[in-house]
Amino acid sequence: MAMAAISSSEPYILALANQKGGVGKTTTAVNLAGELASRGQQVLLVDCDPQGNATTSLGVAKRDLRFSTYEVLVGIAGLDRSIRSTGRDGLDIVPANEHLAGAMVELVSAERREWRLADALSQVAGYDWVVLDCPPSLGLLTLNALCAARGVIVPLQCEYLALEGLAQLKGTIDRVRDHLNPRLTIVGVVMTMFDGRTNLAQQVVEEVRRYFPQRIFNTLIPRSVRISEAPSYGRTIAEYDPSSRGAQAYAAFADEVMRRIDRQAVAR
Ligand code: ADP
Ligand code: MG
Repeated sequence: MAMAAISSSEPYILALANQKGGVGKTTTAVNLAGELASRGQQVLLVDCDPQGNATTSLGVAKRDLRFSTYEVLVGIAGLDRSIRSTGRDGLDIVPANEHLAGAMVELVSAERREWRLADALSQVAGYDWVVLDCPPSLGLLTLNALCAARGVIVPLQCEYLALEGLAQLKGTIDRVRDHLNPRLTIVGVVMTMFDGRTNLAQQVVEEVRRYFPQRIFNTLIPRSVRISEAPSYGRTIAEYDPSSRGAQAYAAFADEVMRRIDRQAVAR
């Protein structure tokens, strides 16, 4: 009964957003998507970053893409033509590469420019989840993701400097909710690259609570060499080293995401 809200025909669209680079957006998007798929969920990952890191992390070559997020956003191709299998059960991707940077420029004066992704995703059926990996900026691509999304998860590195820009990010999310996408919810903040040896971490957690009270996920993603190695093999951490701490952490995180979103669905 609890799952009813999720398995309806409308997918739950989840954006991983933070304008800071290198905080674990892509790593979290890829591993969360993989974990959800391995739980029998139908998942579509949309790479919204011209760097195409989510694309390559799942082993999809980003050179010579015929159809990608770029074609979807500028209206050259429908989403259906741009979706491809990642070779895993239940996990498809709309890949991206550097062409996507051009969409920013081309869409500047376009109609419904913030709604391009939302409009495209409204056509998609058969997925329980759509995971959006955002670029490291609060520009038009992230705006498209926030307008399309139902929930946003903010990955945050456990370092003091990671807190810079948090107020701006919160402000952007609030503005999108107030003016564009009233359904948008902050699902939570996930602390990444956690290093238990530094006592800075606790300080960071307390500071984060000032902006996102009660919304930090219990699961801390540890700093782990294995996690950083997996993408170069085109694998998720669960595929690359299933017994590693990193794999266990992302599994626990995915459980928490499913419970939390489920709880919101029930509370609604
Ligand atoms: P973003 O998408 O926010 O720019 P990434 O997910 O690409 O961040 O992560 C930035 C870098 O840190 C990548 O090289 C990635 O492999 C590495 N990384 C991410 N998470 C971890 C982790 N938990 N432990 C170690 N390295 C990590
Ligand atoms: Mg990234």
